[in-house]
Amino acid sequence: MNTVEERVSHLHAGSLVDMHFDLPLNLFWNRTRRNIIATDFLPEFEAGDIGLLGVAIYVEDKYLPDQALRVALDQVALLHIEVETTPQLMLCRSFTDIQRAQAEGRIGFILTMEGAEPFGDDPYLVQIFHQLGLRMISLTHARTNAAAAGGIFAPAGSPSDGLTIFGRELVAECDRLGILLDLAHINPAGFEEICALTKRPVIVSHTNVRRFYDVERNISDDQIKMIGARGGVIGINAILVSANKEEATLDRYIDHIEHVANLIGIDGVGIGFDFCEFLWCQMPAAEREELEAKLTRPHFLADLTNHSHARNVTRKLIERGFKDEEIAKFLRGNWLRILRQTL
Ligand SMILES: [Zn+2]
Repeated sequence: MNTVEERVSHLHAGSLVDMHFDLPLNLFWNRTRRNIIATDFLPEFEAGDIGLLGVAIYVEDKYLPDQALRVALDQVALLHIEVETTPQLMLCRSFTDIQRAQAEGRIGFILTMEGAEPFGDDPYLVQIFHQLGLRMISLTHARTNAAAAGGIFAPAGSPSDGLTIFGRELVAECDRLGILLDLAHINPAGFEEICALTKRPVIVSHTNVRRFYDVERNISDDQIKMIGARGGVIGINAILVSANKEEATLDRYIDHIEHVANLIGIDGVGIGFDFCEFLWCQMPAAEREELEAKLTRPHFLADLTNHSHARNVTRKLIERGFKDEEIAKFLRGNWLRILRQTL
């Protein structure tokens, strides 16, 4: 019988997939520095055996609407520069690229976008971003834009509107180009409308379940079942585990995984850590308070704060009785299945 640590190492040998990380925003905030990923992040990625990461373009409110496109392009440019100058990294545009990165022992990035603001209301720009490597889009963050409305951080009260005409054009364009539609953050009406519009698997890159943190930014049991019925995957977020600090624990993180697995099976759940304490720490106090007042105050888990802690999740899943084949699906298999189908 293998020890727990041997099982963890064996499970991590195939490397992990996390579909949401706000890396481009960090590059943008530190745009005069170089080799940021190699210096600040690579040791953590390697300690956690991370093989593939969804890295999200995100434009802060203060740049909207006029500077959104410029800021987004700057984030993409900085990411490209970092990848080109760091041999351990690779930007993946196809499933073949993902396999190549894995075979070469490099960490692959999938370029994603959190909020469609960079397009303004011009659907033609989607194909330009696709050429730059964009492979996944969530139409909104927790705000309304030209495409749709975001879910708010409260149990009720999000806008009741679904997608605009432009939002529906974006969905069609994503389907045509093979860009994965991410239902993270969108309001309930938009969620349902995208499910009806696209025939592809639908996913939520990073969220928690309303059962344990009841805000419209998270997903309800009905929404979880809609994703399950479409063969999609839900990435479990490590920062909205509980509204209460005392209950924001690694065990409660596992409860979110278990809840989704109980409703739609282990095939429907993956990683969407959304680690962002390093961003929070860089914000001036006044700006941080403003953001926390608008959204929520996240409770970061001490033993799941960055990618170097990934083994803690695997160890805890073993402790909680998950089988190795189930854990492997959660750590990478389910996301790889979706990416193979879509890219
Ligand atoms: Zn988010």
